[in-house]
Amino acid sequence: MEAYPDRVQVETGMAWVKQEIFKKRKMEKYSGCFYCGIPQSLCGRWRAKDEDGGRFIQVSGGGCQYRDTMIGMAGGLLGRDVQNAGRAARKMMGEAGCSEEDEMQDWLGRLVSWGGIQASQLCRLCVYLEREERGVEI
Ligand SMILES: [Zn+2]
Repeated sequence: MEAYPDRVQVETGMAWVKQEIFKKRKMEKYSGCFYCGIPQSLCGRWRAKDEDGGRFIQVSGGGCQYRDTMIGMAGGLLGRDVQNAGRAARKMMGEAGCSEEDEMQDWLGRLVSWGGIQASQLCRLCVYLEREERGVEI
C-alpha cells in the first residue's frame, strides 16, 4: 500500500463521497454542514442556535470557508485503500451496535458527539484512517 493516494484514487473517493453521502442526503441533522461536511461549529455557514451549541441555523450570507476540504480529505483517505476503509468502517459500526445489514452510507452520515464537538461518523472515520496510516494509537 502506498502512503499517498494517486489522483485517480482521490477523485474516485471524492466522487463516491459526493454521490453517496451528500447527494443522497445522508448527513444527519447537526452532524455537519450539508454542503461541505465540516462540523457545523467550524463552518462559517452556520451559527449555534442555542447556548449549548448543539443546534445550528444558517447565517445569512455565510459560506463554507473550507469548501471541499472535507470531501477531498475523505476522498483521499477512503480512495487510497477502499477495502481497508470499508473494513475500518465496518469495525466501527460493529462497535456502535450496527448490524451487517446496516448501510455504511447511512452510518457515515450519522451524528456523533466526539472530541468535544458534534461531527459525522465520516469525519470520525477520516481521523481513524489518518491515525492508522501514521501508526498513531487509535
Ligand atoms: Zn460548510
